[in-house]
Amino acid sequence: MIYGLIGEKLGHSYSKVIHEKLADYQYDLIPLTQEEFKKFMEEKHFTAINVTIPYKQKVIPYLNELDPVAKSIGAVNTIVNRKGKLTGYNTDFYGFEYMIKKNHIAIEGKKCLILGNGGAAKAVIAVLKHLNAGKLFVVSRTPSEDTISYKDCYLEHKDAEIIVNTTPLGMYPNIDASPIDLAAFTNCEAVLDLIYNPTKTKLALQAEALGINAVTGLLMLIAQAKQAVEYFLDCKIDDSVIEPIYQELIAQIK
Ligand code: NAP
Repeated sequence: MIYGLIGEKLGHSYSKVIHEKLADYQYDLIPLTQEEFKKFMEEKHFTAINVTIPYKQKVIPYLNELDPVAKSIGAVNTIVNRKGKLTGYNTDFYGFEYMIKKNHIAIEGKKCLILGNGGAAKAVIAVLKHLNAGKLFVVSRTPSEDTISYKDCYLEHKDAEIIVNTTPLGMYPNIDASPIDLAAFTNCEAVLDLIYNPTKTKLALQAEALGINAVTGLLMLIAQAKQAVEYFLDCKIDDSVIEPIYQELIAQIK
């Protein structure tokens, strides 16, 4: 029985601690180079795994089935091996929606900026649309037809009401970095930063100083892991398990 997380660099991961609090199995961190990744996916010597940067899209060709949520997002962070057949899921959707609802953040009709255009942004966009957000703008360093530049976001979108950071800027150990200066966004009601280490990013601290509601990603991380365990073990786990794990981790990280 092999459960774990694959990705390129996993040193910062809390997934082992979280999974081993949620379930009764050993959960391994399995760092893989691109070459090792190919072999790992072909051999399928695992029971169920989570997937992180940079393999969330790269795993898709190896799968036999794709859950509808993962399909619509175009990224997979959970794979279950059922007698050699691999099914892919995306639990970031559930995790991000949980983070929003638990913090009572109103999304309906709100103008949203999503900073960064990677795998996590796709799940974020899907949730914001599902919650009937107003206009959505994805901000990218390399703007395209579907995305806008950081310059445009300061020039034309200072009225954004919700700002979501899906970039790694501000993540440990580069905690002095921040993707945006919130001072310009005077209509902003809430900042959702997916980063979970540190538990208060520079962006979240600036938001709080400006009186803006700020939430970081630890709750999302635990919620998405809870749903992954449900897929791994084909069981249902009550949401009430999330908060105590959150409190325990916050205390440990401080
Ligand atoms: P990713 O695929 O690498 O995408 C991140 C995006 O951020 C990139 O596509 C890029 O977009 C932008 N970016 C990257 N480096 C940047 C830099 N130096 N400056 C400005 N923008 C930069 O990663 P991901 O899987 O989406 O994850 C993103 C973050 O979310 C990570 O910090 C991850 O830990 C966190 N996350 C948290 C949870 C949770 O449960 N809390 C779940 C998933 C992810 P452009 O090139 O378009 O600018």
